[in-house]
Amino acid sequence: MSLLNVQNLKMYYRLRAGYVRAVDGVSFTIEKGEALGLVGESGCGKTSIALTLLKILPRNALIVDGKVIFDGKDILSMDEETFRREIRWKGISLVFQGAMNALNPLYRIEDQIIEAIRLHEPETSKEEARERVKKLFELVGIDPSRSKNYPHEFSGGMKQRACIAMALSCNPKLLIADEPGTALDVIVQAQTLKLLRELKKKLNISMMVISHDLSIITEVCDKVAVMYAGKIVEYGDIISIYKEPLHPYTIDLVNAFPKISSKRQKLSFIPGSPPDLLYPPKGCRFHPRCKYAMEICRKEEPPIVDVGANHYIKCHLM
Ligand code: SF4
Repeated sequence: MSLLNVQNLKMYYRLRAGYVRAVDGVSFTIEKGEALGLVGESGCGKTSIALTLLKILPRNALIVDGKVIFDGKDILSMDEETFRREIRWKGISLVFQGAMNALNPLYRIEDQIIEAIRLHEPETSKEEARERVKKLFELVGIDPSRSKNYPHEFSGGMKQRACIAMALSCNPKLLIADEPGTALDVIVQAQTLKLLRELKKKLNISMMVISHDLSIITEVCDKVAVMYAGKIVEYGDIISIYKEPLHPYTIDLVNAFPKISSKRQKLSFIPGSPPDLLYPPKGCRFHPRCKYAMEICRKEEPPIVDVGANHYIKCHLM
């Protein structure tokens, strides 16, 4: 049984003008110890999936359809109290996007992590929590003597590590990292990805890594779900998708990144911009930007096709 099984998840934001279909029929699984990458342009629904899994959605958000089975439990139908006690932080935790702003500047980092631990495990004493913070700091490669520092005394990379330590503080089974490389220079970014890889191995923890950058996903993940306009358009193991993408959007996405080993050439880009999800285009949502678009693409939504070896494509060309 998969640790996480998301089936036909739909989550919309209600606006005066109608519904923004941010997550529109998304299905995927994550096994124990496995890392899944969610990749796609900004606004394609990646972070909305994470917020839905943790049920920390804004008030105008509606979970319209779907099922989420986590560790054998149907978590969408759980009441808030049970969800808070059993799932949030203890089962699934999130490293928020932008470590620079995720920590409260007014409190020592140690106190922020202690508060998180004791909020979800009230039986843990302050002293025990303090000891745990020291171990967490060691785990993420920060000298435990720095735990009494304030956030402004940490560099960007250290803040990112402290946020990861906080997310691990209640021993979750699934860690979600939202854009772990954002706002970090390339060296610190590489160190953060190395840390995530090491943690996955050491703790045998499952991960969901969200990024607009496919190369970040390839560093950490075993498989990838490529998202476009609220839907998964290609899904499968990371090596085969990166080496031989089949969906026109994934092909464009892979070609948009420079390759160190290849000849110097002009970078390609995807013309146009993602659709407004308040009024998504009919048929395939990628058709206004797709160079292979056919008549059927403008009228009918493509089905998900199994092309073998756990590789799935949502495209009329298959
Ligand atoms: Fe392009 Fe049609 Fe495939 Fe959509 S379904 S990606 S428009 S070929």
